[in-house]
Amino acid sequence: MAILNTLPFCEERLHIGWPVSEELIEATKVISRISITSEEGQIQPIKRDQSGRHALSFSGGADSMAALAVMPQTTESVFMLRKKGSTRSLYDSHAALESCRQLRNLGFTVHIVESDFEYLRNPIGFPTDLSVASPAILLANERNFSSIAFGTILESAYGTSGEKFRNYIDSSHYRLWKPLFESVGLGYSLPVAGVSEVGTAKMCLELPLGRFHQSCIRGRWGDPCNRCWKCFRKNILISALEGDEIPAHSKESVKTSKEIRKHLLENKPIKHEGVLAYSLERASGGGELFNKLRKLVRVGSVNTDWMEKWYSQSICLVDPDYSDYTSKKLRNTLGEMSEEQTTDLCGWSNQSDEDREVRLAELSDFL
Ligand SMILES: [Zn+2]
Repeated sequence: MAILNTLPFCEERLHIGWPVSEELIEATKVISRISITSEEGQIQPIKRDQSGRHALSFSGGADSMAALAVMPQTTESVFMLRKKGSTRSLYDSHAALESCRQLRNLGFTVHIVESDFEYLRNPIGFPTDLSVASPAILLANERNFSSIAFGTILESAYGTSGEKFRNYIDSSHYRLWKPLFESVGLGYSLPVAGVSEVGTAKMCLELPLGRFHQSCIRGRWGDPCNRCWKCFRKNILISALEGDEIPAHSKESVKTSKEIRKHLLENKPIKHEGVLAYSLERASGGGELFNKLRKLVRVGSVNTDWMEKWYSQSICLVDPDYSDYTSKKLRNTLGEMSEEQTTDLCGWSNQSDEDREVRLAELSDFL
């Protein structure tokens, strides 16, 4: 856990002030940028307990709810409650805490752990993307966890929210963290790594657990802010999945929210551009502004139907203890991608800067 939270701040050497196992040091050798050393003496590696419990690093959003829905019933969720600081923050934990409460009512075990480790960094934030699992790691001994799962979705694991498709298993992220978790007796599991944001939204609409999530971390429970980038993306996606028109507040917010305009106009590619293409192709209306937006995200020239299905090759990223269970659930709810859809996924790439510039210019006339 120390490595998880200090790695970005290290320049050459990270010295751990207590003895660690040889396995752990060995697992860190994949980091070429710095060397990791520890106090004299070695300890026996922590062995995974085969009869242990499985944990999920839970956020209350659609992706982690979808992950929970395809994990065994006995999974324990661990929610990290961000400490409110003196700085003005738009973050509101109300919805996530409500989600945790509802899960408890259903009989799930949910641990809520408050932490201020975001303040290790300036500006405030998580040191690494997996830092959010710090409370789950700290609880691992006491709760006898044998694996920790994350709600990482296909766009993040396989790179399709960015430049182009990558095979996650070959990435430095995977090559570092999986062995590092294993060196302390913990499985590293990504149950929805083969599911797009479209898929997790579909699962939340269709599965009984789905209604206990809320993705917006600014609004209160049942009352998302409808002004943040996440709300913008998710609202259009829900309209697409339900065959509706683009909601009035989405039209409004694209004109009035600085945050949404920044995402649309300054990011290359737009974060989760593919998901936006999927949604804008299927949600109707919105007028000329949204037609330009459709053009910007290449509606009509990119195939997006693979986003509704499960990429079954990702099963190797799910803990072997419950991967059969997960794959059965995913096959039943979403179904597997066809060969053609898999080809579309693997061929996914960002548009060229020149093409984007032309489309952006057309869009900005309407903003
Ligand atoms: Zn919001």
